[in-house]
Amino acid sequence: MPITVEIKVSPSEIENEIFIKQEIRNNCKETLPEKFFYTIARRNIDARAKSIWYVLKIEVHFTEITQTKVEFNFKNVRNEKEVYIIGAGPCGYFAALHLLRLGIKPIVIERGKDAQKRRRDLKAIQQEGIVNPHSNYCFGEGGAGTYSDGKLYTRSDKRGNIKDVLNLLVYHGASEEILVDVHPHIGSNKLPALVQNIRKTIIEHGGEVRFDNYLEDLECNSDKIINITVNGTKIKAENIILCTGHSARDIFELLARNKIEIDCKEFALGVRIEHSQTLIDEVQYKQNPRHPNLPAASYSLACQVNNKGVFSFCMCPGGLIVPASTSPGEIVVNGMSLSRRDSPFANSGMVTAVDEKDFSAFNKFGSLQGMHYQKSIEQKVFNAGDGTQRAPSQRLMDFLNNKVSSSLPESSYIPGLCSVSLQSILPKEIITRLKDGLIEFGKKQPRYLTNEAVLVATESRTSSPVKIPRDKLTCQHIRIKNLFPAGEGAGYAGGILSAALDGIRVAEALYQLKVE
Ligand SMILES: Cc1cc2nc3c(=O)[nH]c(=O)nc-3n(C[C@H](O)[C@H](O)[C@H](O)COP(=O)(O)OP(=O)(O)OC[C@H]3O[C@@H](n4cnc5c(N)ncnc54)[C@H](O)[C@@H]3O)c2cc1C
Repeated sequence: MPITVEIKVSPSEIENEIFIKQEIRNNCKETLPEKFFYTIARRNIDARAKSIWYVLKIEVHFTEITQTKVEFNFKNVRNEKEVYIIGAGPCGYFAALHLLRLGIKPIVIERGKDAQKRRRDLKAIQQEGIVNPHSNYCFGEGGAGTYSDGKLYTRSDKRGNIKDVLNLLVYHGASEEILVDVHPHIGSNKLPALVQNIRKTIIEHGGEVRFDNYLEDLECNSDKIINITVNGTKIKAENIILCTGHSARDIFELLARNKIEIDCKEFALGVRIEHSQTLIDEVQYKQNPRHPNLPAASYSLACQVNNKGVFSFCMCPGGLIVPASTSPGEIVVNGMSLSRRDSPFANSGMVTAVDEKDFSAFNKFGSLQGMHYQKSIEQKVFNAGDGTQRAPSQRLMDFLNNKVSSSLPESSYIPGLCSVSLQSILPKEIITRLKDGLIEFGKKQPRYLTNEAVLVATESRTSSPVKIPRDKLTCQHIRIKNLFPAGEGAGYAGGILSAALDGIRVAEALYQLKVE
């Protein structure tokens, strides 16, 4: 058994093994022999005080450590029972990997292109404002997770075996650092290769992945889906894991049309806020420039305004704001970063919770009222711009003072910004909550309220506007027994890690039912 020791090391010594060994010796309750070995089990940064520390949980060993890669027992499933997985996002791909371990053949149906070909469509949105409704920042191999920030945080370890997902990610090409860092991050330069490796595993073991395959219709009776229609062809699918993400509005509409129960769900909506990374580093680390051994600093802010949450969301240090629309005629923004996190900008969602009270003007849409509310705002934001993906924006202090910005600061958002009063396009309640929230955050975080920061509209795809109800244990839809709603779009995940965990959970539940 290794001995566990916790030590604190300054950024300048974090790569100095001799120093670290001495610190281990100084902090270990036992007297250590002259020769010992160590591994870092957990790494965190403590930037609360004036001095910044790496806090390391160390495991001390007395014999040389041989690092063995975790292996997985993926079975050959070529001739085994089939399960259709709709959506090749983190949920779909991890459900497929788990089915391989269980000896079931996954057939993944994905409307978008493979990760490589998808790049061309991302370039078209960024540079020409052309949105391909099947291939964009949300749709295509790896789903919304591929060209994302790749933060691997989840608030709850009750959702499943996080270590298993991290090990699967490392097996498919992620750095082993993600096993150690308290706030692991992959970066969108590394994620495309990783999702392609996952596809290789699925195919090598007899599973299938079909790109440019769009689930457009289904036929069901009182408790079963009989056929699904993919690219005009009817397929008899015995069991379907539906994990099409929070942006597949056509899927929500398809379910509603077929009277398959779905519920309206609250989500969060607002803007993306962008500061200079140097300012965030100065405030968080009290250093300028930050020590080269420190990553770009991040922040997390939250408060309550009129009993509604206002909070920073998916903060991307050293990142870029990206156009995440999935249809022409709307503007949606999100954030991503490369593994180095070295852009001069720090962006974050700045959002507030919205629920049925906010959607009341759309209640004629029943369970899809939140979705229609979300869509109407995205379209209004588009119409307030110049007909491209240039995003309506306002400097932060101008927003607080109800003033249209006479100029806008430089931004990482490639399609460009246009100066518009956000008060004139976002609902009044959202504006009020965001303003009060920002003022509160200004009290918590020095220099946060600056006119050098810009608010970019609109951050609206924070989570799904619906929940597809399923049985807690079997994960079957509450009525349609061969439908297994999963992942973020169905309301069971919020982020890459939790979507992957839910994919595994649903695959396992399906296996326990002994699929026909
Ligand atoms: C720019 C950006 C940055 C992000 N950064 C982070 C981050 O740093 N950390 C984090 O945890 N999360 C991040 N997220 C969120 C994260 O990507 C999602 O939570 C996660 O991908 C959800 O996984 P999922 O598998 O449930 O759905 P998705 O990833 O949305 O995948 C759904 C898939 O279904 C496919 N599909 C939809 N409709 C159909 C159909 N009719 N037929 C066939 N296929 C269909 C889609 O094309 C898509 O590939 C980010 C998202 C974006 C857009």
